[in-house]
Amino acid sequence: MRLFTHHDRPVHLGAFPSERLRRLSGEPDLSRIVDTGVLRPPADEGAAPTLARSISRFMCALDQVREGDHNPHLAEIPGSPGLRSEHLKSAAYFLDTSIAGVCALGPDHRLAERVEHPAFRTATYEQSETKLRLRFNPNAVLRQMKRSMDLCARGVEHHTHALVLMVAHPRDPSADEPGAEWIVGMQDWRAALRAAETAAVLANYLRILGHEARSHTATTTDVHLNRLAVSAGLARLEDGALTNPFVGTRFGLAVVTTTLALKPDEALAPATLNERWRARGPSWWLGASSQKNASNAVDFAKRHYRDSLHPVETLKRVDETTTFIDEDRIPRVPKSSEFFLRAAFGDLGKAPQEASKDGYSVAKAPLAAALRLALNVYSVLQRGEPAAHKASYADPARNADLVKATLHYLGADIAGLSRAPAWVWYSHRQDGTEMPVAHPFAATVMIDQGFDTMEGTSGDDWISSAQSMRTYMRAGLVCGVLGDHLRGLGFSATAHSAADSDVIQTPLVLLAGLGEVSRIGETILNPFLGPRSKTGVMTTDFPIQPDKPIDFGLQNFCESCNKCARECPSGAISAGPKVMFNGYEIWKADVEKCTRYRMTNLGGSMCGRCMKACPWNLPGLVQEKPFRWAAMNLPVAAQWLARLDDALNRGVINPRKKWWWDITNDGTGKVVAAKEVNTRGLNKHIKIKHEDQTLAAYPAPLAPLPLPMPSPVDREAGIEAYRNLLSPAQYQARIREGQT
Ligand code: SF4
Ligand code: SF4
Repeated sequence: MRLFTHHDRPVHLGAFPSERLRRLSGEPDLSRIVDTGVLRPPADEGAAPTLARSISRFMCALDQVREGDHNPHLAEIPGSPGLRSEHLKSAAYFLDTSIAGVCALGPDHRLAERVEHPAFRTATYEQSETKLRLRFNPNAVLRQMKRSMDLCARGVEHHTHALVLMVAHPRDPSADEPGAEWIVGMQDWRAALRAAETAAVLANYLRILGHEARSHTATTTDVHLNRLAVSAGLARLEDGALTNPFVGTRFGLAVVTTTLALKPDEALAPATLNERWRARGPSWWLGASSQKNASNAVDFAKRHYRDSLHPVETLKRVDETTTFIDEDRIPRVPKSSEFFLRAAFGDLGKAPQEASKDGYSVAKAPLAAALRLALNVYSVLQRGEPAAHKASYADPARNADLVKATLHYLGADIAGLSRAPAWVWYSHRQDGTEMPVAHPFAATVMIDQGFDTMEGTSGDDWISSAQSMRTYMRAGLVCGVLGDHLRGLGFSATAHSAADSDVIQTPLVLLAGLGEVSRIGETILNPFLGPRSKTGVMTTDFPIQPDKPIDFGLQNFCESCNKCARECPSGAISAGPKVMFNGYEIWKADVEKCTRYRMTNLGGSMCGRCMKACPWNLPGLVQEKPFRWAAMNLPVAAQWLARLDDALNRGVINPRKKWWWDITNDGTGKVVAAKEVNTRGLNKHIKIKHEDQTLAAYPAPLAPLPLPMPSPVDREAGIEAYRNLLSPAQYQARIREGQT
């Protein structure tokens, strides 16, 4: 937790105070930098199944989409090279780069011979069930991989600029800490993977904007990564080693080269005493000038990887979820009941169906479209057959530590474990075939959407779909790599992502103790991330000891607060009491209304305004501790805390944090300035009443047939069904009377 707010710090400066470092006025001397910064992947066949082997496979797949055809139309973006550099660096920070810099690309940066991942030209991928998804299209990824090979045949001599990405290592895992066995010695691989992901996404983004761009990683590159880090002001030679003043020598790199003109950063000047005082003096120690400071510069410095960066061990664990789940009577529903799929099939009418084509409602924001590429890459790696030989892992408690430590190490913000009961599996795939209950256990991850970007947005403007896609992508990566590793050890494992999921993830989040049911409905709220997260799941037969559900007083808090219901632009969130829906006690939101709004939003792409507005959407400051304590421990304080949140104007847009461009695909592929932009303030004057709301719900009897065919929603029947939903007390009385 931090002491100071960085409310006014522009996003393009990053989390480290790099602007305080001394800079050179001329070109740096590159002649002494001989190491290129590349990694040699482990042998794929016959080698022991280390985590590096799985990471290397994912890196190879990312390398295979390093190139692509660029949009023939130039996007309407600012002409200023300075604004472009700031924008791209902000996007890199949004994707969790530690430090980003820009430089001109010169002859000294190009390698005489390209370095390639050993499997770069030979690795092939199975098409997964995702080919049937209408929002995501892995076939496009497989096509792009092939096209990328062709385009890579030429060099990057005509590229003029480079965006350089540095990913700092967290603490070195210690061999004797719980759960660290798989992650010891993986630092270079972890950093290389995370940097490669961002480079692949941002190169794709630049191509969507109409410019040539290629990503270069620690396994496949045409350029000298280390020299570019020096030229872009990320590192300098100290005692013969490439060093950044804040992260030292412990980092990995990736680069995007492009034809887009950018404003270069200046290289770092040699360290002086004066610089040490300015950059690493009292301000650094207190954390006054930037989010990263002496106390939090190294992630996990004082935490076990098993436990995450958040103090989850302080939470109250309970045997049952705080909301009733009638496990014996939960109906399994087909995938075709998922509302985004229904929109694609035309069940919600013409406009949402049009918006579904090629995932337009998400991908109309170019950055979200770029992120989708990585998610689709991971989707072709998320399934597979286990190795013939099963390794010995007989202790479920120890196994649980291994799984959670690995997920947190790779990038999950919080991971939890549970059983995977039959009722969380869809009954049928979207092609109508029956879905088997494949595995007994689930590891579920939450990925934070990030406070800074949430500060700058209305929640439903032109960054919204990219916020979601970033978290889906990261969840796909961490669950995918772990699933691949478990299969290498001889266990069955499948990652489930937004691109391709066999399970309904919400109940797994509850069972794994990652949060409680909130008024937002299907959104589970975590005490440290608030509702500002998305999830991913990996199911497996690897024996793991489940976590227990948590109780942090949210049921009482949401009873006393309805800010999300008040701020929802579509009126989808119930301001009334909880009801029973398909066997779950829940504040049932009108998912049809929410989906319609998200698909057809004209002033942005998708929506997450309910997450933005919630009082639990907090930046992670020490000062929040009293709020959290009172919210968790004093039931009478809830309504006052909710009012205080409004009085403090929390949930308004902070313009200092707005780094993205309001641009959109106009439907023809051309990226233009958006005609409308949602810039909502708070609706403090509105008193929302449940009796004024008309909400619809579609319980199992109203679910569509499990077939890939249209089944238009009957809204009148949905409204009637909502009215007939029982309260939890009525429902339980009926069970006692044997009527349910
Ligand atoms: Fe937006 Fe849906 Fe949340 Fe309402 S419920 S604020 S429409 S995401
Ligand atoms: Fe609960 Fe209020 Fe957050 Fe809605 S805004 S989820 S009611 S705490």
